Amino acid sequence: MADDLCGMNGMESWAFGSDLRVVSAERVDDSWLVSAVGRGDQRCPDCAEHSKSRHSWHERRLQDLPVQGLQVALKLRLGRWRCRNRQCERTTFLERLPDTAAPVARRTRRVAELLRLLGHIAGGRPGKLLAARLAIPASDNTILRHLKRHAATRVAAPVRVAGIDDWSWRKGWAYGTVIVDLERREVVDVIAERSAETTADWFRKHPEVEIVCRDRCGVYSQGAREGAPQARQVADRFHLLQNLREAIEQQMTRVGRSAGRSLLSPTDSHGASGLDDDLQPSRRTRRDARHALFERVHALHAAGKTRRDITAATGVGRATVRLWLRSGRLADRTAMTPTARSPRCFKDYLSQRWDAGCTHGGHLLHEIRRLG
Ligand SMILES: [Zn+2]
Repeated sequence: MADDLCGMNGMESWAFGSDLRVVSAERVDDSWLVSAVGRGDQRCPDCAEHSKSRHSWHERRLQDLPVQGLQVALKLRLGRWRCRNRQCERTTFLERLPDTAAPVARRTRRVAELLRLLGHIAGGRPGKLLAARLAIPASDNTILRHLKRHAATRVAAPVRVAGIDDWSWRKGWAYGTVIVDLERREVVDVIAERSAETTADWFRKHPEVEIVCRDRCGVYSQGAREGAPQARQVADRFHLLQNLREAIEQQMTRVGRSAGRSLLSPTDSHGASGLDDDLQPSRRTRRDARHALFERVHALHAAGKTRRDITAATGVGRATVRLWLRSGRLADRTAMTPTARSPRCFKDYLSQRWDAGCTHGGHLLHEIRRLG
C-alpha cells in the first residue's frame, strides 16, 4: 500500500470542512500525519472586521478521527492576521476554523463529540480504555472535561424531574455525580465528587425540582432532603430492580429454586448462637433451605414415596436423596478454610491487637503480613 493517501486517492479523500485545504498526508510510524493550510475565518473575533493583512503564520496540531485503526494528527498552517479597525483594541488574531475545531481545542469537533459520547455511555476510565482502542487516546480527565463542557453549554431550562446517580471516572476509586434531566433525557451537570453536601448545594440552586429520582444509598437521599425539601424522592427503576434481584438471589438458593418455594422464614429465629452470628445472611439462608429440604425428603420417604417420586417432588438429585436417606443426619457444610489472604485467618490476632489499642490499619496490615 502506498504510504501517501493523497497520491493514491487525491486530496479530496480527506473529509474535512471547507475551512481547510489538505496539502499532504504521510504515514509516520503507526499514525497518519495530515498537513493542511487554513482557509478559515479571517474576521476579528472582537470587532468582526474582515482582515486581508497577514501578520505571520502559526502552526497548530489537532487530533482527528483514526484511519484504519491508526491515529491521525492534523498539522495545520494558519494565518495570524492584523485587525485594521482603529476602534478595536486587538492588534492580531489567529484564523479560526468554525467547521473543524473550537478556537483553542486540541481535537477536531468530531473527536471531541465522540469522547463526550464515550464518557456519557461508559464513564471516565472505561471511556479512556475504549478511546485508546479506537485510536483516539484521551485521559479520563479529558473525557470528563468534554462531558462537563457539553453540560455547561446546554441552555439552562428548569429541571422538574432530576435523576441523580454516581458516576465512575476511576472504577472502584473515584466517583463523581451525574445529574440528568429525566424529562429531556439530558445530562444537566457533572459534579466531581459524591457527597451529600455537594448534592444539597446543587439542589439549592435548583428550587424548581419537583421530583428526585435516585438510588437507594443514603448520600443522595440526605443531599436531596437538605437541598430540595420541596421535592418528592423516588427510587429509580434500575436500582429498584437491582435491589429486587439481589434480594431474590439471597433468598433463592439453587436447591430452594428447584423446590419451587420461597425460602423466607416466617419468623426470624436466627442469631441465637454465636455460630449463627458468624454466618452471613445468605449462607444462613442456604443452610436453612438445605435443612428444610432434608426434612421434606425424609417426610416423603416416611409417607411411602419412592426415591424417584421424592426427586420429582423436591428437585433434589437421586444420588443426594439416596445419601440423605441412608444417613440419618445432614452433614454440616463447613466454611472454606480461610486462606492467608483472608482477614478471617487473622481474626483472633486482629481482635487481640485491637483490644490492646492498636487501631491503625496500616500498622495492623504490616503486622499480619509479617505473620504470613
Ligand atoms: Zn478587531
